[in-house]
Amino acid sequence: MTNCPVWFGGEWREIQDVATTPVYNPSTGEVIATCPLGTAAHVNEAVAAAAAAFPAWSETPPVERVRILARFKLLLEDNFEEVVHCNTREHGKTLAESRGDVKRGMEVVEFALGVPSLMQGEVLENIARGIDCEAIRQPLGVCAGITPFNFPAMVPLWMYPIAIACGNTFVLKPSEKVPLTAVKIAGLLEKAGLPKGVLNIVHGGREVVDTLLRHPQVKAISFVGSTPIARYIYETGTRHGKRVQANGGAKNYVIIMPDADVENTARGVIEAAFGCAGERCMAGSTAVVVGGAETSVLPTLIEATRRIKVGPTDRETQPDMGAVITRQHRDRILELIETGVQAGAKIPADGRGVKVGEAPDGFYVGATILDHVNPGMTVAQEEIFGPVLNVMHLEDLDAAIELANRSFYGNGASIFTRSGKVAREFKHRINCGMVGINIGVPASMAWFPFNGWNDSFFGDLHMQGREGVQFFTQQKVTTSRWFSYGEGDIWHSENKK
Ligand code: NAD
Repeated sequence: MTNCPVWFGGEWREIQDVATTPVYNPSTGEVIATCPLGTAAHVNEAVAAAAAAFPAWSETPPVERVRILARFKLLLEDNFEEVVHCNTREHGKTLAESRGDVKRGMEVVEFALGVPSLMQGEVLENIARGIDCEAIRQPLGVCAGITPFNFPAMVPLWMYPIAIACGNTFVLKPSEKVPLTAVKIAGLLEKAGLPKGVLNIVHGGREVVDTLLRHPQVKAISFVGSTPIARYIYETGTRHGKRVQANGGAKNYVIIMPDADVENTARGVIEAAFGCAGERCMAGSTAVVVGGAETSVLPTLIEATRRIKVGPTDRETQPDMGAVITRQHRDRILELIETGVQAGAKIPADGRGVKVGEAPDGFYVGATILDHVNPGMTVAQEEIFGPVLNVMHLEDLDAAIELANRSFYGNGASIFTRSGKVAREFKHRINCGMVGINIGVPASMAWFPFNGWNDSFFGDLHMQGREGVQFFTQQKVTTSRWFSYGEGDIWHSENKK
């Protein structure tokens, strides 16, 4: 069985004599690989390799750096289906969802190809008489990324293409639950001609993360994961003098107004709630039906949810929805559903007892709707991160906005309506960083910041877009004045007389 290799200084190798953790195929429950849990010594080795590669890489002209990324992008296209299948096998999402996962990551590579323009600085001639001022952007040094299980391809690609295009070197620690896709993609970057040590991969858990957070040669940390860990990463990393961008968890509201288009809204909400089995930080996990939407849209939504077919995704016939990541996670989702039912929520679509005959040991939860959830319930407060849609009923837009704005998270919120005025009001007053208007999952694409607010983000500069370039570069401002034309003053017009 594969023990996932690390990649240090351009060398792929298995690390020995450490504990390992299983990597599952969630569709079947089988163990398909193991992931080594590296130690501080392994982090030191990875960081040393990245530090050794930095001088030559940062001196490589940006246009040459991005040419390697352009070849990487072509290799991702050529090997697309192989990467997609690897992603589905270790994560459990459908092949269509894996295609989306990989494509979104590839878009960040496309964005990073613009770094020779995006990194350009500013100049002001004559900021004072005879004095010029310029600000240029330089790379930081060794940067590190720590990623979650839910987008094995996309989330690592949010980080290192921009970081390395800007001239940094990088150490990636992928989720120990899904390390295979990250390794496969890095192999393509190696093929594209990336010099040794520019990207390194280390595997592990807390010891690895803590060592990265404290390592004096690591200048910046990018993190994506749950809110408690994101907060810890931000506090610890900044205490050790690093730049940190840390994306946390979320609980996103979808407001359904009485005038919303029934079919399109039901489709949009279903995609938001049950796409990727709800394991998405931009999942629309709470639908607020406003006034008459409970009789216009909600019945269609419930009917469509009951029809969602769950099953194994690692074969040709694809279901609508795959398994969740682990047995423990499935059990936690089932427990949370139970707390909702015990607290009085109705369950018009019940995915608890779902039977998947052809894969009885997979980690399945069927698509579930908890109706008449109230804000005090545990299911309304905790991120479930599974295929569960809470439904709440409110009288008007004001009440819906007020409810959503009470959340301590702030990733996304959407509204479905035919009214431009209502949509504008919502966009203006909602307290979160990514807003959808008749879009269920308003996740920013590569050219814009992935823009969490509140406890969904800790830091100042978000991932992707221009902020991503700013995060991975530091400015140098030079103010200059020259007193003479040099030896002999040969260029001075007065000397020519
Ligand atoms: P997680 O927080 O458990 O793990 C994320 C990473 O942190 C992993 O690499 C893991 O090894 C490491 N880690 C876990 N516990 C740690 C600890 N105690 N100390 C140091 N490192 C630790 O998250 P997950 O379960 O892999 O992913 C799901 C979470 O990620 C959800 O909360 C989801 O909302 C969030 N997420 C957020 C975004 C976003 O952009 N806001 C995107 C994707 C996922």
